[in-house]
Amino acid sequence: MRLKSSFALAVSLSLLAVGKVAAQDLGPNIHKLKDGIYVYVGKDRPNDAGPESNVGIILTQEGVVLIDTGQNPTDARAIQAAIKKLTSQPVRYVIATETHGDHHAGDFVFSPPGVSIAHEGSTAALKDREPADPARVERLRAGSPEVRAALEGYHFVLPQAEYRQKMTLNVGERTFELLYMKNAHSEADTAVWLPKERVLFSASVVVNNQFNVIRPWVGIPDILAATKMLKGLNPEVVVPGHGTPGTVKIFEDMERYYALLLDRVGAMVKAGKTLDEIKKELQMPEYDQWMTKNRIPANIEAAYNAVVGRLVFKDN
Ligand SMILES: [Zn+2]
Repeated sequence: MRLKSSFALAVSLSLLAVGKVAAQDLGPNIHKLKDGIYVYVGKDRPNDAGPESNVGIILTQEGVVLIDTGQNPTDARAIQAAIKKLTSQPVRYVIATETHGDHHAGDFVFSPPGVSIAHEGSTAALKDREPADPARVERLRAGSPEVRAALEGYHFVLPQAEYRQKMTLNVGERTFELLYMKNAHSEADTAVWLPKERVLFSASVVVNNQFNVIRPWVGIPDILAATKMLKGLNPEVVVPGHGTPGTVKIFEDMERYYALLLDRVGAMVKAGKTLDEIKKELQMPEYDQWMTKNRIPANIEAAYNAVVGRLVFKDN
């Protein structure tokens, strides 16, 4: 009896000593990927808007590295509270995977002291945002008491360090490889690869189970080149910019989708259809279960540009 209770005490003390926190104690959106590697999975949105952005939380012996800071200030505060349960160490670095605001809502919560790192061009893309819409934060504050509280101490954050093409960041026992992806989604997209742990944060070049936003300067060939590069890393875990984390299957699904889209648009171009006709007539029933269907016309336009570009190239 006495032995048993001292054993129980020893077990509970050893648990205490290593500071184990079960993922379920960290809030409903945080999932453990590997020891010390967590993801805050963005919440689902109504009206087929697709899920909000994901955030990577990586503990090291020398502090925390964050990958993006959330869709809303309230997400950032939930992440901040979870980090406090996991470690007494500060956030050392904040890596931005893209320039869009839905990945930057909590920058002010973590930086400083976290050093904000992004690819070259991010500062230029971000710096006009606040002056262009000075009332944005006031509007957010007026939204709800929770958001108002989450915005306490708000200040506008720009990257403190920009890298070009590739950067290796060593923090404690971990290595982070920052990989630039050209014209893949925003003005400056960064994938973050942890080679020892085989975990990849792919940014929004790929999303899971939904049609992606494709802006006019983004090309499907560039998206496919980035996807191929990421797949070539042979990751075990893939965390997309939005949507449920998974495996390389996320890349394979996207590749299959774009191949089919290019095929169908190509056949219609060859049959003499205009872009408007293709937008009206093209069906992709295989993807009926995917979210964000309002993005299909932009996907068709990107495929049309890729197909026409390819034909022009071939003819010349
Ligand atoms: Zn984006």
